[in-house]
Amino acid sequence: MSVRDLTVLGCSSQQPTRLRNHGAYVLRWNQEGLLFDPGEGTQRQFIFAAIAPPTVTRIFVSHFHGDHCLGLGSMLMRLNLDRIDHPVHCYYPASGKIYFDRLRYGTIYQDHIQVIEHPVSKEGVVHQDKTFTIEAKFLDHGIDNLGWRIQEADRIKFDKEKLNKSGLKGMQIRVLEEKGSLVTDGKTIALEDVSYRREGDVFTSVIDTKYCQNAIDLARGAKLFLCESTYLEEHKDLAVSHNHMTAKQAAQTAKKAGAQKLILTHFSARYRDLDRFAEEAKEIFPNVEVADDFKRFAFPLRDY
Ligand SMILES: [Zn+2]
Ligand SMILES: [Zn+2]
Repeated sequence: MSVRDLTVLGCSSQQPTRLRNHGAYVLRWNQEGLLFDPGEGTQRQFIFAAIAPPTVTRIFVSHFHGDHCLGLGSMLMRLNLDRIDHPVHCYYPASGKIYFDRLRYGTIYQDHIQVIEHPVSKEGVVHQDKTFTIEAKFLDHGIDNLGWRIQEADRIKFDKEKLNKSGLKGMQIRVLEEKGSLVTDGKTIALEDVSYRREGDVFTSVIDTKYCQNAIDLARGAKLFLCESTYLEEHKDLAVSHNHMTAKQAAQTAKKAGAQKLILTHFSARYRDLDRFAEEAKEIFPNVEVADDFKRFAFPLRDY
């Protein structure tokens, strides 16, 4: 799989509506499928979205309110049924271990698959490999709740003009790449003389929080920033009392973070017309879209 995109499987908050399922989001990233906050009914939403559940390699539960985790047990059951042969890494706030266990073992099923749990008790990097780094920070939701930042590893890219000028060809370029420097015609050429570092792309998920600094830090420079906006400004008193954000606050977070694109989600069932969320946010952060069930957002690999 070389597809890179984010699919919204649901975008409601606590209470689903006729048109909006409990939240769940799949980020397909090269060989990985990252599932965020599998709410109730997520297994079936995969079918409508035409994504095979075995795509999932990692599951992130931000916190243990039902709309973010009630689909966890059935997703794990489904992956068991499908007899997937890769491990599934599960990340969640460590204080919610009891809920994780209840959800995982809530019903009778044959446990065949390898589930690797990563209870997170400390902020920071929770995974790092050659392709990406996953970082978690606590948000401000009244209970332990984690936001996630997935950052692609930086890549060294050749500067075509400088490379042409250097006169290096074929095998010489490969040697330079491997060794970091090369002597040709009595002259030493370093890799950095003919290349540049391309910063990796970032995906950020911040769901269920008040406006807070950690959300801004997680979204710094994000190519895609998935952010909750449970309410509109007209109900900002509810946002405060329920530890949530308004569309305006989500836009302020995206602006402060210098994010590239903001996707609003986790809408209260009281709203029918979601265009109002985009209108409110656009006044502060223009590159905004509103999530909807089965909407897909490209997350293409840059070739520069
Ligand atoms: Zn929620
Ligand atoms: Zn919540």
